[in-house]
Amino acid sequence: LTREGFSIVPNVTWDDVGGLDHLRRELNKYIVRPIKHPEVYKGFGEKLETGFLLYGPPGCGKTLIAKAVANEAGVNFIYIKGPEILNKYVGESELAIRTLFQRARTCAPCILFFDEMDAMTTSRGREGSWVVGRLLNQFLTELDGGEERRDVYVIGATNRPDVIDAALLRPGRFGNRVYVPLPTADERASILKAIGKKKPIDPSVDLDAIAKMNCDGFSGADLANLMDKAIHLAVEEKFRSIESSEGDGVIDSSECVIKVTHIQQA
Ligand code: ATP
Repeated sequence: LTREGFSIVPNVTWDDVGGLDHLRRELNKYIVRPIKHPEVYKGFGEKLETGFLLYGPPGCGKTLIAKAVANEAGVNFIYIKGPEILNKYVGESELAIRTLFQRARTCAPCILFFDEMDAMTTSRGREGSWVVGRLLNQFLTELDGGEERRDVYVIGATNRPDVIDAALLRPGRFGNRVYVPLPTADERASILKAIGKKKPIDPSVDLDAIAKMNCDGFSGADLANLMDKAIHLAVEEKFRSIESSEGDGVIDSSECVIKVTHIQQA
């Protein structure tokens, strides 16, 4: 996804997500299945909950899993960063929200994802709070959009659920709330495997052991960062080896294999 606010079916799949099994099940039940089998749900008449708030520490996969849900359901994904809506001039942030929902309705079924949603609903100074108040009202109006909003699934993400206005948390708006915690040791291992599946990792590397022994308290983003650093170390080692053997300085990426020493140094 390159441009904020534009829709596209993401290329992130469930396979790219490690752990988060509980969240996966919930999102399957509430979003993927209703999108894939609308005929089953039509008979129930009442509007079913389409709003989700994911909260928890940064870098634990909230954005990633939302993209995977859109991919699994085969629908468009519109990504919005809360603070950027607020950066618009006074009055324009409401228009931006209206336009976004309009766009979402035209490409429904779709997933509208608000990252750092707290920024849109928290007051920051006097002028700021006025802007936020009006933005919040517009947001609430759009969320209550009735029948028209039916196939627009809205997912919000935040590290600060405590500052989200209570009005947003009512059923029908963000009625489903799921905590996305730091991964456990087992989950860290499955995240490392998900991140590492397309990377040249030496078969002798035991990712389960690394997840248990070297990564206490790491988030998914920390684990991705660890892998990135390990890649740089593997490449650096290869370059150093050809320099010392007076090679011609050309190496192939397939020659750069991540070994356990690279992960330990990273
Ligand atoms: P923030 O609150 O900072 O927006 P977030 O919870 O939305 O964080 P993501 O943006 O989804 O976190 O994760 C950042 C990166 O960390 C991902 O692009 C991915 O590389 C890695 N990552 C995080 N969690 C996972 C996970 N469960 N499985 C695989 N990779 C993960």
